[in-house]
Amino acid sequence: MIPGPIEFEPSVLRAMGETTTSHTAPNFIETFGHCMDLMKKIWKAPDGQPFIVAGSGTLAMDMAIANLIERGDNALVISTGYFGERFKEMLTCYGANVTIITAPLGKTVSLEDIESELKNKDYKLLTLTHVDTSTGILVNPEPIAALAKKYETLSILDGVCSVAGEKIEQENWGLDIVLTGSQKAIGVPPGLALLVASKKAIHTWRNRKTPVQSYYSDWKNWLPIMEAYQNRKPSYFGTPAVNLIRALEVSLQIINNEGIDHRINIHEKYANAFRKAIESLGLKTIPESNEIASNTLSAIYYPENIDGNEFRKKIEEYGVIIAGGLHADIKSNYFRVGHMGSVNASDLITTLSAIEYGLSKTGYHFRPGKSLATFQTLI
Ligand code: PMP
Repeated sequence: MIPGPIEFEPSVLRAMGETTTSHTAPNFIETFGHCMDLMKKIWKAPDGQPFIVAGSGTLAMDMAIANLIERGDNALVISTGYFGERFKEMLTCYGANVTIITAPLGKTVSLEDIESELKNKDYKLLTLTHVDTSTGILVNPEPIAALAKKYETLSILDGVCSVAGEKIEQENWGLDIVLTGSQKAIGVPPGLALLVASKKAIHTWRNRKTPVQSYYSDWKNWLPIMEAYQNRKPSYFGTPAVNLIRALEVSLQIINNEGIDHRINIHEKYANAFRKAIESLGLKTIPESNEIASNTLSAIYYPENIDGNEFRKKIEEYGVIIAGGLHADIKSNYFRVGHMGSVNASDLITTLSAIEYGLSKTGYHFRPGKSLATFQTLI
């Protein structure tokens, strides 16, 4: 129950074990092209350019930044935790002048603060983290993308912990890049960097004055490959992760058959019920209100006077694996539970039951069964 890698559907895992074909075999060309077609549907970006490259979510971030930033460009980072800081580091590495607006813990950055920064300077791009996995904070990308458009700034959404779990309408909202990794709500073992770029993003890259400062991430190498597979033609730059891409096809197909809107509604329902169940035990989550709490994970403070390590050990004894803290300022004060992808009500009931077990073994007082009853009334 950690926020990625998540549990994967058996059919996705079976696809991983199929015979590895050549990357130019007709069946694989079809699989690759089909994945890109499905990505455009799930991202809601019919005119977008998908990229599927072997690597983790960080590579997808790298691909966005390396291709769009030139030395000396101004970049604005809107940070709600650990992964906002990562964008800052990466942008600095590629020579951008970075301004970061960091939300107070448990909150988001206000639109007023973002707009006054955009008014202040000519920003080439801004980045936002849809769900920061270190805090469970959800940011609404729609009004931020609209502000970016107003000030002619590109918008890059880190959707590693949100794509296929939170509402996204890349094209309607005007987001220039929406990126993710395979191992979260997309539902495929770790190893694929996925992103969809807008026409404007590709245009900006084409009109660069200086070369891209990364060999592996350079769209010059990858765009022709993506275009070839899209047109069901063989091509080669770097050997694609054949088995992972076949597994991606299976998982995207499951999501698409279910319907992306339905899938997100289910995530929302489980997340709300889980959070209410946790709160019924008297525990507090990092996000200060329900509107900014994510569908994909919950970040929960340990109650005062209990030993967090001992609590997590008890939960593990019970057979459930949850994650510890990640945000540097409060690392040892909280734990995280992922609830995305093919998670179901019984997974969450078992997790709540394990949490109650852990709390009772570490001396916390509450009414046994309270969280289970709360969850069941809301589901
Ligand atoms: N952004 C967010 C919001 C994430 O949760 C993660 C991974 N936890 C990353 C970026 C980096 O992805 P990866 O670990 O796959 O490189």
